[in-house]
Amino acid sequence: MPGLEFMRRLAALVPRPRLRLTRFHGVLAPNAGLRAAVVRGPPLNTSAPEDEHAHGAPARMGWARLRRRVFDIDLEHCPQCGGEFKIIAAIEEPAVIVRILTHLGLPARA
Ligand SMILES: [Zn+2]
Repeated sequence: MPGLEFMRRLAALVPRPRLRLTRFHGVLAPNAGLRAAVVRGPPLNTSAPEDEHAHGAPARMGWARLRRRVFDIDLEHCPQCGGEFKIIAAIEEPAVIVRILTHLGLPARA
């Protein structure tokens, strides 16, 4: 089978991005009248104000947590004493960054 033909057949099997692959029918269908009776919903007596993150998608993970999860690098705790790191300053001026790196004897270019 030629490569282009193979790619055409393979592409036909790949669903579009964000396409829902699970379809519910009957009482579980999105607009079914009895769906509320069989599907667990939010609690009925909500006295607290509606919080966007309480029932929806989980809050987004911070970059430090993502790095620890993916690369197993802990950027939240000091490797010497185990204390929690805090951001005390953010240096964004390129000229200042170059001066600091040069002073420390580190390369100032990637
Ligand atoms: Zn420390």
